[in-house]
Amino acid sequence: MGLLSQGSPLSWEETQRHADHVRRHGILQFLHIYHAVKDRHKDVLKWGDEVEYMLVSFDHENKKAQLVLSGEELLETLQEKGERTNPNHPTLWRPEYGSYMIEGTPGQPYGGTMSEFNTVEDNMRKRRKEATSLLGGNQALCTITSFPRLGCSGFTLPEFKPNPVEGGASKSLFFPDEAINKHPRFSTLTRNIRHRRGEKVVINVPIFKDKNTPSPFIETFPEDDEAAKASKPDHIYMDAMGFGMGNCCLQVTFQACSISEARYLYDQLATICPIVMALSAASPFYRGYVSDIDCRWGVISASVDDRTREERGLEPLKNNHYRISKSRYDSIDSYLSECGEKYNDIDLTKDKGIYEQLLQEGIDHLLAQHVAHLFIRDPLTLFEEKIHLDDANESDHFENIQSTNWQTMRFKPPPPNSDIGWRVEFRPMEVQLTDFENSAYVVFVVLLTRVILSYKLDFLIPLSKVDENMKVAQKRDAVLRGLFYFRKDICKGGNAMVDGRGKATGSAEPAAEEYSLMTIDAIVNGKEGVFPGLIPILNSYLENMEVDVDTRCSILNYLKLIKKRASGELMTVARWMREFIANHPDYKQDSVITDEMNYSLLLKCNQIANELCECPELLGPAFRKVKYSGSKTDSPN
Ligand code: GLU
Ligand code: MG
Repeated sequence: MGLLSQGSPLSWEETQRHADHVRRHGILQFLHIYHAVKDRHKDVLKWGDEVEYMLVSFDHENKKAQLVLSGEELLETLQEKGERTNPNHPTLWRPEYGSYMIEGTPGQPYGGTMSEFNTVEDNMRKRRKEATSLLGGNQALCTITSFPRLGCSGFTLPEFKPNPVEGGASKSLFFPDEAINKHPRFSTLTRNIRHRRGEKVVINVPIFKDKNTPSPFIETFPEDDEAAKASKPDHIYMDAMGFGMGNCCLQVTFQACSISEARYLYDQLATICPIVMALSAASPFYRGYVSDIDCRWGVISASVDDRTREERGLEPLKNNHYRISKSRYDSIDSYLSECGEKYNDIDLTKDKGIYEQLLQEGIDHLLAQHVAHLFIRDPLTLFEEKIHLDDANESDHFENIQSTNWQTMRFKPPPPNSDIGWRVEFRPMEVQLTDFENSAYVVFVVLLTRVILSYKLDFLIPLSKVDENMKVAQKRDAVLRGLFYFRKDICKGGNAMVDGRGKATGSAEPAAEEYSLMTIDAIVNGKEGVFPGLIPILNSYLENMEVDVDTRCSILNYLKLIKKRASGELMTVARWMREFIANHPDYKQDSVITDEMNYSLLLKCNQIANELCECPELLGPAFRKVKYSGSKTDSPN
């Protein structure tokens, strides 16, 4: 979740009192940046990945796996031994929401050469090794998206009881505040989201109805009025930010060569988000139950939904300014490039004053409405020491609003006075069990950006259709059963323009036949007469590139994984986890995941991640042999 401001957080009341101040100065800060770097060109293509990890402890005697609440100390040691000692250290570590979480990135961004695709996995391995070496006995660094028994009794080490009392951060019946990162930013976010909303957050995930699952499946919460009202039959009920932001993901950030290239990539990749999310599905279990969804997205969305009842449309507007249709964590609401304009068919709530101000300052309609839309939100935290800032040289107020708009894509202006360029962040992916898989997904997405830019591809469809795809993508086995709107002719060339010159060709109204419903298999692998397929396009691009043999071999293995996940020849992590639980001798076909089942699943995940066992149904038979039995040694990076 980014870097941390130091200091003392203000109370919610005080933060709210400063909301307009933060927005006003946030916009001034944005304008300073924009005017300083809007014409910057020829920044080089750079990119980097972010992997989020959980710390898991195994109690082999009692067959129990728990989340270890030591992320803060681990982070301190990693930074002390790493980036603070050596500016060229190959890894960087950052805090995450859970006290049992940590985030790792490469020490330096990757550049534009093909051979760098061959260093991604080595770097991820380095991260895993580096952090693992600092853990206690029987502890492991796991790349799992959601911890199956998150919020169940005794899920943390040390154990804490939830404390649903006034004054607590979450007031959760299940998730103790001690499991939240100790830096005040995180508990303050938690508390202020709840205060702003006026009640606890509500997450209801449909339960997977197995043979012996009670029907209807009903949990009662007699002691908690809010929970009794909010929980729905046939759903797994959760009531805290930790159930969402306590999940892990895999992200990629790109630096574009100019602002218009960044806007173009932002739009194109937005259409890819649901597709890659479904391909990366890895989170079928919540609060000790088997759910009927495969992805975390909607859970996090609900877990940080700070909208009031008025804003959600449940009461007439009285104290608030707007109806707001989505949570702060959700899919994007508008395209940013000129060719995207005609596909902007979602009602966009925006701060009109800010929108007008941005137009007056010479910012175009599309960018102005994007920023004015982000700025309908209130700041959720504010640090006393960070209220009065130098707007020409600082950007904390802008970042305050920007960094708590957690959307599928993020458009990132350069920090003030830096040599960093305009960037976009790709945020929908779930984290995979192994460094091999995580590298495969990252390389797949980065290669997609290369072909999008080189071939001027155009994936755009009406944004409302992308939203429909997001809903489908989270369903169980969406990768096999889901149908997704996708553009049929992506090679129009002339339609996609990188430098914002001229208007998109064709009529103003997008014709319905520009897109059709396709399976992920057709989108990724192609289908004759219907769609060429993303991987065939990548392959033809690769054929025209100079790539050394070893790198080519790695890339082919990565693409093979994606291809086979898309066709169903290999399972997604979510499907694999479901089968593991279904086949567990203790499983009673009642959708319940016991401590012991949780333990065996995580143990297996950890063995797979550390290559102590094969898992052909997930990874394929030969991938590791091809890649690791040859001359390959650890790269010097
Ligand atoms: N863990 C969050 C997710 O799974 C993302 C947090 C972040 O923005 O770094 O999407
Ligand atoms: Mg993160």
